[in-house]
Amino acid sequence: MTYNSWNQHVVKKKNKELVLRTITSLAPLSRADIAQNSGLNKATVSSLVNELIDEEFIYESGPGESSGGRRPVMLLFNERAGYSIGIDIGVNYILGVVTDLMGNIIFEKNITVRNLSFKEHISLVKETIHILIQNTPQSRYGVIGIGIGVPGIVDKSGKVLHAPNLNWKDVNLKEIIEQEFDYPITIENEANAGAYGEMRFGVGQDCTNILYVSNGIGIGLGIILNGELYRGINGYAGESGHMVIVANGEKCTCGNLGCWEAYASEHALLKNAENCGISSTPTLEELIQKAEEKNTDTIELFQDIGFYIGTGVSNLIKTFNPQKIIIGNRLAMAKHLLEKPIVDSVRKQALIYHQADIIDFSKLSTHSTALGVSAFAVEDFLHISDQID
Ligand SMILES: [Zn+2]
Repeated sequence: MTYNSWNQHVVKKKNKELVLRTITSLAPLSRADIAQNSGLNKATVSSLVNELIDEEFIYESGPGESSGGRRPVMLLFNERAGYSIGIDIGVNYILGVVTDLMGNIIFEKNITVRNLSFKEHISLVKETIHILIQNTPQSRYGVIGIGIGVPGIVDKSGKVLHAPNLNWKDVNLKEIIEQEFDYPITIENEANAGAYGEMRFGVGQDCTNILYVSNGIGIGLGIILNGELYRGINGYAGESGHMVIVANGEKCTCGNLGCWEAYASEHALLKNAENCGISSTPTLEELIQKAEEKNTDTIELFQDIGFYIGTGVSNLIKTFNPQKIIIGNRLAMAKHLLEKPIVDSVRKQALIYHQADIIDFSKLSTHSTALGVSAFAVEDFLHISDQID
């Protein structure tokens, strides 16, 4: 290919992506609307739209409103041209979803796990992916990719450098999954994926500066600044679960003392419940039920955890001055028990010009990460895909 023809190829690809993006965000709309919104001329739009129809990315629906004259044909995005798989590898669960290209969940599989070895964990993840593939509807492009969220530090090559709560170190997860599945694979830190999921589908939809606190067995932070995920220079940003909130405090799974997650996570809640003799092998679901039945000791446990969540949240608000800070993952299930203690704690520890009313709870709850990684796979498919050439 000569430089000129290569250049034309790149320009065309970019224009086609622009047309498709305009349709995915504004549909239903006409060819003339696309030209107006994208700044491309009508002939270019028309030819690109025809290609996208042939490729089944979009389709024509009935005529839309007309301001006089012939009614234009409206175009819609074909969200069922392919399906994406999202997996959230938790410490005590594995959640998998099949979504269409707009993030609607078509099928899901949720497994509770306990004390698995590395081998068992990986084999359950693979088994889950197989089940999800079997339950993916037929479509033009089939499974377009698999996104996996992990509670740990993930480098840019998809390697999990350290996931303390899973006890994983230097796991080349991308390679392991690629050996079994011939699809594009994306590996992402679960809190980053959760933040993205909230921005696309959850309570962060109207926001461009979001902090997402993923509170499960550990705590991770997803940071969205000006609409983009902030990963840090090497992709290790958001390890706020290990920021120290009590100097020389409790021992954390990372080896340090006094980390936020040693005081404010689901793990801390379960450990405290065990120590207080509330239950010998407590689960979050059981503790929520006990608190709802007005068991005073259990209610106090939630208040205690809420205070410490608030302490970390208050530090983050002071550091970032975000539009919204979203509490998500497993502990979002206990919103009714945690919200007041968290807000009280933040109010008590905030500076006068920082507001506690920016705190919100995830509505996607346990699904933010799975939906986020699934959306990453869709983005990769629609943008880097050779389908669009
Ligand atoms: Zn730690």
